[in-house]
Amino acid sequence: MTVTTLLPQQDTRTGRDRLEVLTALISAPLFDQMFRPDIVKVPPNHPVYRWNCLAADCERSTMGHGDLCSTHEMLWREHRDQGGTRAEFLRTAPPVGPGEGVEQRPCQICSERPARHLTLQLCHYHEYRWYHHRDRHGDNANFDAWLDDQHTLPGFGGCRVGVCPELADSPLGLCFRHERRYGKQGRPGGATLPSQWGNRYGRRGLAAPVSYEDERAFQRWCATAPAVLRPAQVNLRGLHPLLRAEIQWGMFAYTQKAQGRWELVTWQGLTNFAREHGLRSLTDAGPEEERLLQKTVSREAVHIVRAVTDWLHPVYVTPTETRELGYILTEHFGRKLTGRSVDMDLTGVSQRWLRDLIWDHLVAMVFVSKMITEVLSLPTWRHPSPASPSCAIDFVQSMSCDAGDALSRRPAGSLTFSPTTTCWPTPTPLPRC
Ligand SMILES: [Zn+2]
Ligand SMILES: [Zn+2]
Ligand SMILES: [Zn+2]
Repeated sequence: MTVTTLLPQQDTRTGRDRLEVLTALISAPLFDQMFRPDIVKVPPNHPVYRWNCLAADCERSTMGHGDLCSTHEMLWREHRDQGGTRAEFLRTAPPVGPGEGVEQRPCQICSERPARHLTLQLCHYHEYRWYHHRDRHGDNANFDAWLDDQHTLPGFGGCRVGVCPELADSPLGLCFRHERRYGKQGRPGGATLPSQWGNRYGRRGLAAPVSYEDERAFQRWCATAPAVLRPAQVNLRGLHPLLRAEIQWGMFAYTQKAQGRWELVTWQGLTNFAREHGLRSLTDAGPEEERLLQKTVSREAVHIVRAVTDWLHPVYVTPTETRELGYILTEHFGRKLTGRSVDMDLTGVSQRWLRDLIWDHLVAMVFVSKMITEVLSLPTWRHPSPASPSCAIDFVQSMSCDAGDALSRRPAGSLTFSPTTTCWPTPTPLPRC
């Protein structure tokens, strides 16, 4: 059974109810607060969402799906070719500096301007002044003494891209990366600064004017541009509130699972895709959206959507709804089989009265079996594969004389499946009536 196809069509009320449920879950004490902000920032060495290089004390992000930054990867290959071991390399690898791109840092002199030189931690203006000072004084140039002599400059405000939290890098009002992207995309609206604006305006303490061919086109670009990619964070700004909550909840839920490796970059790609395509919920992603998502982001992003949607299913539907639709979610009744929630599909039972009877009985038995298992510390059940009507009927027959009686009273031809004994274990640990 494909669960999502059985879900009722989402309307505004449903969306609001789902958001309320997720908001309550996200506010719960056991929910990791790291996933609550609209920009999820992950610290280095995170046990699940590790993004930084494995070499000792390296602050750089990993390259691709590997576990080393590009510089350490190159050094590791040299070390390996000389007969060195991986463990030895990771322990003794030389530091290679902060690298680019993990996060924006402010100039250590003017806190409102972003640093362009990450090692010196200086803005473009002060970087230029330091180089000039060093050229004039040669070996006598003292960086610390020079720092004490510098004056703070005012910044350019925040980046004008709606979802961007970073500082603008120039009077144009864009951070360095968005300014670069703006140029690559043909400068919509034609926003430009005067030539040599730094010499003509900046160094004289004057505000450089920005000219536009079409200012509204520039504003539209700023309103729709996606967040810049940062390896340690997932920017959820600009998403529909329900979708944002689903991703926050999904990112946390994944940390409670024991499977695969979902990269932050994939979560960000999924987020950008959802924002660009106006999705309101992960459950909105149909085959066409999945095809586009795989094409523009990755197959892994599609996998994330499907997995989180499945995890959300017990949260979104009520037991009453599942009864109406003809299946049982064991997780609703606190019962997981080998760690998984299982859907028991009863839609093969054509008579509604019988289906409801089976539903009620199975739910009672799932609930009772859980209690017995817990109280008597009995072994957990083996997972049926796949969950099917025959599994359900086997369950009834093996667990309950009453259910067997109910089935034996069914009208002829009402059930098209044959009971088997392969899905469920012989219930020796459980009492029979
Ligand atoms: Zn590294
Ligand atoms: Zn500065
Ligand atoms: Zn920006």
